[in-house]
Amino acid sequence: MNSEESCWNDWVWQLRHAIRSINVLKTTMSLSDTEEEGLRVLSEKAGLPLQITPHFLSLMDLTNPHDPLRLQVIPRAAEFEPSQIERRDPLGEEDHEVVPHLVHRYPDRVLLLVTDRCASYCRFCTRKRWVGQGPTPKLEHLEKALAYIRERPEIKEVIISGGDPLLLNDERLEALLSSIRAISSIEIIRFDTRILTFAPMRITNELVSILKRHQPVYIISHFNHPQEIAAATEKAIAKLVDNGIMVLNQSVLLKNINDRAVILATLFRKLTYLRARPYYLHQCDVAFGTKMFRVPLEKSLAIMKELQGNVSGLNIPRFIVDIPGGFGKVSLVPDPIVARNEKFISLQGFDGEVAEYPLD
Ligand SMILES: *Cc1c(COP(=O)(O)O)cnc(C)c1O
Ligand code: SF4
Repeated sequence: MNSEESCWNDWVWQLRHAIRSINVLKTTMSLSDTEEEGLRVLSEKAGLPLQITPHFLSLMDLTNPHDPLRLQVIPRAAEFEPSQIERRDPLGEEDHEVVPHLVHRYPDRVLLLVTDRCASYCRFCTRKRWVGQGPTPKLEHLEKALAYIRERPEIKEVIISGGDPLLLNDERLEALLSSIRAISSIEIIRFDTRILTFAPMRITNELVSILKRHQPVYIISHFNHPQEIAAATEKAIAKLVDNGIMVLNQSVLLKNINDRAVILATLFRKLTYLRARPYYLHQCDVAFGTKMFRVPLEKSLAIMKELQGNVSGLNIPRFIVDIPGGFGKVSLVPDPIVARNEKFISLQGFDGEVAEYPLD
């Protein structure tokens, strides 16, 4: 391995060399007018920063302004158009923040936000009010969160999120996991991370051995398009799964990026093949500046209907809408009931045939 390769394969190098300025970005591709405008507005106000790792950039077709990876991380003018229905905090997380950076929405699990930083920033991020801008959680906040969890044995699972929790270094992760595992009521530790997409080389042998020491650990990856899955990503997923760490995937349904059944089918098949089973497909939350990403709900359901039955059930995630305002997630399914009377309901199968099922 020459030294350039060994740098590339170092996740810290990837972060240090991430693109954060318009001028550097311009040396890699020619920007469209709407991107120029989006970047100009962003440079004049506080907001979700521009950041793209060299790894993620390398997966883009730099000649294509509609590249599905590019659209996710480069701001466009429409991101800054005001909207009446969009929200700063679409999931009402601040209302459910019981101590700083700990969100307790559901009875048996908590969401612990350990950092506001990510390897690259997604323009549709549901937490774009805070991600990449701080305040960055401090150690003293963590102590309070742990105390809160310790006092409530009904909490069985800690979901470690952010930002991207796998940006913490090994030492901090080891300390975090040890202190969570010291709480005997906690059964499951789950990480929400996009590192497998943006810098898969983060999955080092050292990291895997830390995670292994604190099993059961689940990793929830975040892939939205098959083009995001590089050879290094495949290796990283295999390394996790071969070591007994479960990998599940969540995706966000995004207009002009993955809003076609054929793209999702390819993505989900690939993920199942890699043993990162599709868990959730999210309807895009109504965060500020996400109109250009949101697929109409009826269309989302039509896409799910197209997948159902046509691809293996192993490949199909649950389709989730997180109710605006913080009322929690609901799972929506295309309705197969086409008619009903006192005796029967009529059900439509995936290939369009309708038949009756008796009600008694
Ligand atoms: C999404 C979410 C969870 C996890 O929900 P699951 O359905 O278990 O995946 C937990 N807490 C909060 C606040 C969430 O938004
Ligand atoms: S990686 Fe996750 S937390 Fe970070 S910007 Fe993207 S969606 Fe938001």
